[in-house]
Amino acid sequence: MTYQYDFIAIGGGSGGIASARRAAMHGAKAAVVEFDRLGGTCVNRGCVPKKIMWHAADTAHAIANSSGYGFEVEQKHFDWAGFIERREQYIERLNGIYQSNLEKDSIDILTGRGKLVDAHTVDVDGKQYTAERILLAPGGEPTVPDVPGAELGITSDGFFEMPQLPKKIAVVGAGYIAVELAGVLQTLGSDVTLIIRREHFLREFDEILSSTLTEAMQDSGLKIQNNTEISALSGSAGNIDIETRAGEKLSGFSSLIWAIGRSPLTDGLDLHNAGVNTDSAGYIPTDEWQATNVENIFAIGDVTGRAQLTPVAIAAGRRLSDRLFGGMKDRKLSYENIASVVFSHPPIGSVGLTEAQAREKYADAVKVYRTKFTPMYHAFTPHPQKTAMKLVVEGPDERVVGIHMIGMGVDEMLQGFAVAVKMGARKRDFDDTIAIHPTSSEELVTLT
Ligand SMILES: Cc1cc2nc3c(=O)[nH]c(=O)nc-3n(C[C@H](O)[C@H](O)[C@H](O)COP(=O)(O)OP(=O)(O)OC[C@H]3O[C@@H](n4cnc5c(N)ncnc54)[C@H](O)[C@@H]3O)c2cc1C
Repeated sequence: MTYQYDFIAIGGGSGGIASARRAAMHGAKAAVVEFDRLGGTCVNRGCVPKKIMWHAADTAHAIANSSGYGFEVEQKHFDWAGFIERREQYIERLNGIYQSNLEKDSIDILTGRGKLVDAHTVDVDGKQYTAERILLAPGGEPTVPDVPGAELGITSDGFFEMPQLPKKIAVVGAGYIAVELAGVLQTLGSDVTLIIRREHFLREFDEILSSTLTEAMQDSGLKIQNNTEISALSGSAGNIDIETRAGEKLSGFSSLIWAIGRSPLTDGLDLHNAGVNTDSAGYIPTDEWQATNVENIFAIGDVTGRAQLTPVAIAAGRRLSDRLFGGMKDRKLSYENIASVVFSHPPIGSVGLTEAQAREKYADAVKVYRTKFTPMYHAFTPHPQKTAMKLVVEGPDERVVGIHMIGMGVDEMLQGFAVAVKMGARKRDFDDTIAIHPTSSEELVTLT
């Protein structure tokens, strides 16, 4: 049987593009199916515009803090519209780079919605293409709850389309996206209420991070409404009222962002035509080789429900193509010790096991080193923010199994330390490393 392609990736996002390009590098004839702008969630509605917004907020912070260093600066006006226009131009340039990279690698871009006709055939808006192997990389979309009036709210997608900075906004959710968007908006000048269902946000992270960030958020004026479940929205877009299950009413929000989670985009893929299984939430289960239950069909990235981060989708996609087309038969992604950053104010960096996870796994063999301090920069600012760090170690020779940090600069600090954790560093390796002074990172190698 001959096919038109060796490899078709459905989804031109982080994972699909990376995997197709690596397949082409190994000589495969590849195509990418995409109905939207190239680059996927990360480039168009995720990491990239989000980080640009965070930089804007960080700049507002620096201006607000500059008086401590003797500057008399007044923040007169934030040109939201002009800034958003520049952000979008930057993203358009990235879309263009993705397109030219695919063209350079002789990868066909099949524009339209892809769905499976059978295990070797993809339908793209009515045209059919065959491939020896198919990759499913459609990513996900924000979840909107099923409550009356939910449509009055927007999602993270809508956040990136807001025509102006909202005056008073509710952000609903306890995950990293909710925390990041709430922080950006508060820092840029909105009156923000973060509504969470349980006691704390970022529950999957180490406790030191959510407790320290809660303090910093409250100091900044951001309101945290915990143990609150929304039962309905009413009013109109621009003037939203919130009703809670406890019978409380919160009024007068110019906007509301649902950031309660994401769902896989598997509905329109007609997976049943090829017999590809999904779980009860719609995710595509894969084994350690990114294989689905159908021999020649693979899945990577957010649609697998595992470690939903761009570098993970890219790494899984590249390794898969190395294995399928590059003769590297053992190549696969390890999902252990994946470092991640939350772009909150201040930022969070985390790798490995939380203290609670480590205690569950290693019980009494766990020891924890921690510190909390005001970094030198903030000794001079009117709005000081604390830095907190925790090192989780295990066993008699104190293998470092987790690092959790929050504070200025930790977002850039973590990557190198993540290498050390991945290599199995011991606490004594940290101690033997001469500190860089004066920095905040030196605290991690001088913990007692
Ligand atoms: C607000 C926000 C902030 C984020 N911040 C970060 C961050 O700071 N760092 C980080 O690492 N990750 C971040 N992420 C997560 C990151 O964006 C995802 O993990 C990553 O994009 C997943 O890549 P993917 O290839 O699985 O899917 P995607 O990048 O979502 O790509 C999937 C593509 O498939 C297309 N598609 C779907 N169905 C079809 C179909 N039937 N036919 C054709 N095309 C289809 C979609 O249009 C999309 O372009 C963020 C996400 C959000 C929402």
